[in-house]
Amino acid sequence: MWRPRRVLVMPAALEHAHGRAMLARAEALGLPVERLASNRLPSAREADPRRAYAAAKATLALTVAPPTKLRLQPIPPSADWRFDLAEGCPAHCQYCYLAGSLQGPPVTRAYANLEAILGNLADYAGRGAVTSASAERAREGTTFEASCYTDPLGIEHLTGSLSAAIRHFGAWDAPVQLRFTTKFAAVEPLLDLPHNRRTRIRFSVNPRAAAHYEGGTDPLDARLAALAAAARAGYPVGLTVAPILPVPGWEAAYAGLIRAAADALAGVPDLDLTAELITHRFTPGSKAVLRGWYPGSDLPLDEAERVEKRTKFGTVKHVFPKPLMQAMRAHLTACLARDLPAARVLYWT
Ligand code: SF4
Repeated sequence: MWRPRRVLVMPAALEHAHGRAMLARAEALGLPVERLASNRLPSAREADPRRAYAAAKATLALTVAPPTKLRLQPIPPSADWRFDLAEGCPAHCQYCYLAGSLQGPPVTRAYANLEAILGNLADYAGRGAVTSASAERAREGTTFEASCYTDPLGIEHLTGSLSAAIRHFGAWDAPVQLRFTTKFAAVEPLLDLPHNRRTRIRFSVNPRAAAHYEGGTDPLDARLAALAAAARAGYPVGLTVAPILPVPGWEAAYAGLIRAAADALAGVPDLDLTAELITHRFTPGSKAVLRGWYPGSDLPLDEAERVEKRTKFGTVKHVFPKPLMQAMRAHLTACLARDLPAARVLYWT
């Protein structure tokens, strides 16, 4: 469980009952709390960028989501809408998806105006490109993704925000779904919540050969045990296989991963399981940030081994060449069909 070395509390956060509740959690855990005089984060104390990164990653700020966060963005193919309970994550994945998209130092910011964040979602129910794109996805209802900018389970012991969101969706009388994906395993406090099967808990998994890229996360076996526990508690669950990498012996590595998931889920009644298959990619911006954060990493980030793909915004991302993509896709979908036929594959990207 993450214990931040600093908890910064903005005055605006304490205007909200949820902000005061998060402060009480931090104090109960004996964490060093600093009440700020203003609603601005203090500038980094460290001049050295590596130390500044480490200090930011060890800091939790209790703050308020700005109004822009209440204008939701579509987030295909994962979900219809993205919403944020927090921004930032205490883990140290060398391929972190947040690199290049976070503004400022990677402090984890937990939002106190939870009531407004959850209340705002009603305006978006019944609308969404992902839901309307296929009958397969339509059965999920309008989907709301809570893990684009954070790992909400990794900070749940400090925030309680995820439990509140699960309760909110459980009580919501409409075809809607809360979704989040995690690299953590502390699902115990979620198991007895009145989720009403309206939250899909997905676990981000990768073969053991890629585990060294995922610093500060829970081990694969713990994640798979948590997957099974969530499924037994009646939650719809999912595997987010990401980021798919051609690690040495990748065919056997990914076959072993799918078999391990199948073993963990054996005998779970009423299993509602999806799979999302996401290959590794990087942008020039994310590469620059990751090289700064993890200078010793052996994560493959060589443009010569990739092909360029243009996004609809005209930016470039570097993806694997088509033959490798096709081989990996065929292999993973065959492994799923053979060992985990219950899994509905939502997308490959
Ligand atoms: Fe980034 Fe996700 Fe890893 Fe956190 S768990 S460091 S958000 S990739």
